[in-house]
Amino acid sequence: AHLDRMAEVEPQVQAFLHVDRETTLEQAGAVDARLRAGERLGPLAGVPIAHKDIFATRDMPTTAASKILEGWRPPYDATVTRRLREAGLVILGKTNLDEFAMGSSTENSAYHVTRNPWDLTRVPGGSSGGSSAAVAAYEAPLATGTDTGGSIRQPAAVTGIVGMKPTYGGSSRYGLIAFASSLDTPGPFARNVLDAALLHETFSGHDAMDSTSIDAPVPSVVEAARHGDVSGMRIGVVKEFAEGEGAQPGVLARFNETVQLLESLGAKVVEVSCPSFASALPAYYLIAPSECSSNLARFDAMRYGLRVGDDGERSAEEVMALTRAAGFGPEVKRRIMLGTYALSSGYYDAYYGQAQKVRTVISREFEAAYHQVDVLISPTTPTTAFPIGERADDPMAMYLADLYTIPSNLTGNAAISVPCGLADEDGLPVGLQIMAPVLGDDRCYRVGAAVER
Ligand code: GLN
Repeated sequence: AHLDRMAEVEPQVQAFLHVDRETTLEQAGAVDARLRAGERLGPLAGVPIAHKDIFATRDMPTTAASKILEGWRPPYDATVTRRLREAGLVILGKTNLDEFAMGSSTENSAYHVTRNPWDLTRVPGGSSGGSSAAVAAYEAPLATGTDTGGSIRQPAAVTGIVGMKPTYGGSSRYGLIAFASSLDTPGPFARNVLDAALLHETFSGHDAMDSTSIDAPVPSVVEAARHGDVSGMRIGVVKEFAEGEGAQPGVLARFNETVQLLESLGAKVVEVSCPSFASALPAYYLIAPSECSSNLARFDAMRYGLRVGDDGERSAEEVMALTRAAGFGPEVKRRIMLGTYALSSGYYDAYYGQAQKVRTVISREFEAAYHQVDVLISPTTPTTAFPIGERADDPMAMYLADLYTIPSNLTGNAAISVPCGLADEDGLPVGLQIMAPVLGDDRCYRVGAAVER
């Protein structure tokens, strides 16, 4: 049924980079055989899923939406991929993204633009915009994403679905093509909070293959999603984000209604000031590009994918330069240059060092807040889905889409986006962001289940 739905809507939505009906049906047959043989699989056995094309998959191409990896087939599965297969999920295909997950609209894909199913002239968010569009368009009930600065929560918000960034280290980065290793976090997309929790539990948990993986039990997110009881919970409204300078009125209206709803459900709502959150965005745009410039050095025309100009005459350096010039898109090049500059001697302390200090200050502010409240809330994004092309030539406007999501990446805490209605001015979905302390993922699901609409 999902393959048929894809055949119907993909020409308009274009959520996927790779679909292979036969591989999908083979996987489904294999799961069926395992069940018939009496194997006990988890609650998601047989459920189809759309998989972001940044996770290594051994039977499907893996490109990170970059030309530099065109045609690459990994010899191994990412841990997330492996756990999906073990649990009997059926991978429908690989979804589109901003190249190497750098962007907020999926317009930076080297292959094609994905459209928002609510309005085909608008973006589905990014970088996991293929995954959010696939779920919102009913092409898949579940999808995977990765969130480095908001790339799960922001696309979930603007397509009216649920998207969760687990605690950093709560889900494995092994086999995930690296963008900014201290921030990258795999997480689930679904159309409701309970489905997201089921997927979260399926692929998260300690992994010896990832040195930053947390060796602690996975918070009981499914249990929390089933409860959805907020009575007696202390909920902090982030003052700086709720005042919403530059935010769309319809977004703020739905947010304020949700605050009232939480109060009527018995939560104690208080205002919490987090003044340094305003510095999160500039700090992120130094840290993420710095890590990217280092991570992307591996694309050297020797190891994987594209190789340009190797005529037997040119030196290895020349081939590398030609390959990287042809293989990386403009946003990726911009970030490599920015990051290389920020890390260079003489500038390191002024830029990267300062940004790391801001990161510490934000962590302390979160810590202080969580002495007072159980969760913090804000809108997920300042605006609803913007028109395709509107911010494509304006990186600063694009970066602002992540204003509210980035603090949680810098500190590694858990955060979810759940739908909280439609904005009056354009009828497009609005997301509520719920942020919880490290390993407090269950709180996100609990509050999310209480308010999802
Ligand atoms: N939009 C942000 C960026 O461009 C975040 C991306 C992400 O979370 N992968 O870096």
